[in-house]
Amino acid sequence: MEPVFWGVVGFGWLWGSFLSQVADRWPGGGAPAGVGWFFPARSVCFACGRTIPWYHNLPVISWLWLKGRCARCGSPIGWPTLAVESATPVVLGGAYGVWGVSWVTLAAFGGLSAGMVWLALRLKQQGR
Ligand SMILES: [Zn+2]
Repeated sequence: MEPVFWGVVGFGWLWGSFLSQVADRWPGGGAPAGVGWFFPARSVCFACGRTIPWYHNLPVISWLWLKGRCARCGSPIGWPTLAVESATPVVLGGAYGVWGVSWVTLAAFGGLSAGMVWLALRLKQQGR
């Protein structure tokens, strides 16, 4: 595969983590009082309030390494986070693989991203 494809997948790997944060901070997404759209800028554990260091915040890898729990307090992170972080690079890489550099890919990118946030929010609201 060409390097651009892997660049898209790598971007999707980071973007999925961002989308999961958007779902967390969306009204009804489970964020505690004091956590808003832009504050804190870094990821925090919603149970203990600790800022999550970068090495515990690598999309997919850290979730698996820490078995889906906060390294400090052991509270569950929830599998929707893992699902979105895993699926986003796949669907974005798939969109690029099918349509290449095009407006269709860009539109799919937006639609798929919105769908990921919607999916994560629905799952989190069901207490997963
Ligand atoms: Zn914690």
